[in-house]
Amino acid sequence: MTTFAGKLLRIDLSSSTYREEEIPNRYYKEFISARGLSVKYLYDELKANVDPLGPENKLIMSIGVLGGTGLQGFSKWCVASKSPLTGTVFRAITGGNFGVWMKHAGYDLIIIEGKARGPSYIYLDNDGVNFLGAEDLLGMDPRQLQRRLKEKHGSKTESICVGMAGEKLIRYATITSGERTASRGGMGTVMGSKNLKAVSINVPIRKQTPFDKNKFDHLVKQQISILKEHPRRKILTTLGTPYMTTMADKLGMLPVRNFQEGSIQNIEEISDDEFYKLKKSKAGCYQCMTRCGGMREVTEGPFRGTQIDGPEYETIYAFGPLLDISDKSFVINANALCDYYGLDTISTGVCIAFAFELFEKGIISAFDTDGLDLSWGNKEAAFSLIEKIAKREGIGYLLGEGTKRAALDIDVNSDHFAIQIKGLELPGYEPRAIKGYALSMATSNIGGSHMYGRPRDELSGKVDSFTEKGKGASIAYVQKVQAVEDSLIACVFGNSGLDFQKYSEFLMAATGISEFADTDNLLKIGERIICLERCFNVREGFRRKDDSLPKRMTSEPLRNAGPSTGQVVKDLDNLLDEYYQALGYTKEGVPTIEKLKDLGLDETIKEIHGQ
Ligand code: SF4
Repeated sequence: MTTFAGKLLRIDLSSSTYREEEIPNRYYKEFISARGLSVKYLYDELKANVDPLGPENKLIMSIGVLGGTGLQGFSKWCVASKSPLTGTVFRAITGGNFGVWMKHAGYDLIIIEGKARGPSYIYLDNDGVNFLGAEDLLGMDPRQLQRRLKEKHGSKTESICVGMAGEKLIRYATITSGERTASRGGMGTVMGSKNLKAVSINVPIRKQTPFDKNKFDHLVKQQISILKEHPRRKILTTLGTPYMTTMADKLGMLPVRNFQEGSIQNIEEISDDEFYKLKKSKAGCYQCMTRCGGMREVTEGPFRGTQIDGPEYETIYAFGPLLDISDKSFVINANALCDYYGLDTISTGVCIAFAFELFEKGIISAFDTDGLDLSWGNKEAAFSLIEKIAKREGIGYLLGEGTKRAALDIDVNSDHFAIQIKGLELPGYEPRAIKGYALSMATSNIGGSHMYGRPRDELSGKVDSFTEKGKGASIAYVQKVQAVEDSLIACVFGNSGLDFQKYSEFLMAATGISEFADTDNLLKIGERIICLERCFNVREGFRRKDDSLPKRMTSEPLRNAGPSTGQVVKDLDNLLDEYYQALGYTKEGVPTIEKLKDLGLDETIKEIHGQ
């Protein structure tokens, strides 16, 4: 008895065939599940340099070993692939019920391969996989589509799907599940490239049977009582992630006007209190009592008159200060419009801010923008750009490629204003104000993500965030921790009061795998995962030069940022040296043979070191 299914479902869209496969027990011991298992399969099965939008790329959906067990905040699911935005290995984690439904169907992973001949969707029920046409579903937005699929296949059907952005291969298209999205890295673009509009599951509910049921039930009760009283849980339940906005502004790390500044004057207009006033009801993921979401009303655009779950802090940042806008209704409406088309709000906001700054600097003009006045704070223009991006119209065609590719096309000088790392647009944390984040984002194997290793001690003020010396080991550590949490999957907002000791107890009681008893071994699993992700990227040609920051971060002192004013990243080279040393990588950022052997990744040595 255990809480993992031990099986994967492999679906080949090119041949409309599918089969079940056993997942070796060893893989769970070495990679746990979800993100860990996904990188294992991606590394083993993808050849170097495959086109992310070609049929050779694969899309892997997965659920964590603790998902759907009654533990709170462990039922999100993961989607992984080679990213069309970054060209790196990628994973996005999101809520909705789909992951748990995968487990009801008896699978920890679904691997989707090939490419369907025409628009299609997959429907999985007790009798197996059905390959169905989706011509009549094209152009449908994810909410409407999920409703349609419930009508067609039954009210217990759970679906994931792409919107128009996925169909049109915008490089940062999302995959929607319920009210939530797997937002980053273009996972929806990969799905669109496979002519796959949706995946639906309707199967009977299957109860999880932990290895040690009594112990596990006790742990679930214990976690619930910890969460009931936990102050962080209470803040998140009431305010959600918008609580970050005022805090980020106070610390001078709230990106304003495309990262030119670090604080906005009228912050109170988009504060957590303001968004709290607009909250109509709570919202959240499957089996999570933190319920950090919140339903709010939309007043403009195709969702007008309805409610959406949002906005999160990252969306407030991207459609607020980043564009010099402090209108909370606009943020909600822009969020809803992105959801409608299936666009990542962070990349969309940063691409629009990039265009605004090029307009400010005179690199582009109204001639290039189809007559739009891209002056800072222009809400109508920003709203129009979202539409143009989703439909690939005019300047939206280029912006839909992401800032890195757009900069290459526009002008040699525009690269300076493209705020991305390895092609992934930056989240709402100013790297110059938190040097640990600068290092974590620079070295992240998925590009400029805030979810690859959060420098918690710097964010909470326990460690000086401006110091550059001595950050290598601590960032290597938080990246390992995040890799373990993403492999459980433990939500970073729903895990209040938990630590590695508790994770170990959960895993032991759930699976009976004795290797999970040792918390040092858990950390080593985290290290193995980030190392294998790095091997994937090294095989693609990524090296030290790619562990970089946007030029602005190393050359322009931060302006108007309260305590962070004047900060700049002075010595990225030293930060990188420390980080590589902490992880046993060469000066070029490549894992050494000794390190690969130590982590049991011997099978990578030939490809990485040619021996
Ligand atoms: S804390 Fe929020 S994001 Fe995390 S599982 Fe709960 S509702 Fe979902």
